[in-house]
Amino acid sequence: MRVTFWGTRGSIPKPMVTDEFRIKVKRLLMNAQNVNLSDEAAVDNYLDNSPFPDATTFGGNTPCLEINEGEHQIILDCGSGMRNLGHYMMNSGFTPGGRIDILQTHTHWDHIIGFPFFVPAYTKNTEIHIHGVHSNLRERFEQQMDLIHFPITMNEMASQITFHQLTEEEEFTLGPFSIKNKGLIHPGGSYAYRIAAEEKTVILATDGEYKEPSDEIFMPYINFFKDADVLIFDAMYASLMKTIERENFGHSTAAIGVGIAINAGVKKLVLFHHDPESSDTDIANSFFKAKQYLGSRNLPPPNNSLEIVTAFDSLEIDV
Ligand SMILES: [Zn+2]
Ligand SMILES: [Zn+2]
Repeated sequence: MRVTFWGTRGSIPKPMVTDEFRIKVKRLLMNAQNVNLSDEAAVDNYLDNSPFPDATTFGGNTPCLEINEGEHQIILDCGSGMRNLGHYMMNSGFTPGGRIDILQTHTHWDHIIGFPFFVPAYTKNTEIHIHGVHSNLRERFEQQMDLIHFPITMNEMASQITFHQLTEEEEFTLGPFSIKNKGLIHPGGSYAYRIAAEEKTVILATDGEYKEPSDEIFMPYINFFKDADVLIFDAMYASLMKTIERENFGHSTAAIGVGIAINAGVKKLVLFHHDPESSDTDIANSFFKAKQYLGSRNLPPPNNSLEIVTAFDSLEIDV
């Protein structure tokens, strides 16, 4: 399986502002004393080897992921990153009239705002199948394209859009993917998806809060995440203070992700759904702290082999 991250921010898109951009440019220039700036290859090499995220950015689009297994594709969530995915598909051989499957964790606006900008949905005879556990999914999608909010209604999209309501913890298959869901603690509810194909497993568990650190809260999730190759986890808050200030907002932290991932025997933990209030530096610091925390646990093998990565827009992971 290949997982591509088209949007990794939570709550609202966060374009980089000039001040943040300028800090990066300044740092790069100040560190470039020994680089021949008139040699393009040398500059590329310098940028490629600069510490992340000095010469790049985590990006600012809200959640949208793509999972591919051979010719088969599933899209997870329709955040603002979906606009870029749509353009990519149109430019890379998508044939109008084909079938597109989307799994929806929930319908908070950061997870649906990309749909009206998803160009394949405007192509004739294309079948779009949106699967989710929430009731009245169609109504939820239609509402954001009511003329009060958007100039085009969903009925005017040329594709055929079908909604499929899943039941809680239902197991079903789409092509080579076998899919299970589990409810997360989040205002209005959100659902994690466990997706398996070719003996590999990827889990998207976004928009989830893990209240008191008790077995009662953690065990059902540890069981659901058991032995996953990749766990994509809501690590929205970069500091403990934020977590305390925002209790009941329905989000989590990197440290909680590390704890659960260790206990579930997860191989790779991906920190996801970054706070729009976090700068690139804040997100990088949160990642380093998560690695430090993992190191401080002094775990015996094989529990010490957990790999932690931080999601950014355009990250690809081969599983
Ligand atoms: Zn969200
Ligand atoms: Zn949400």
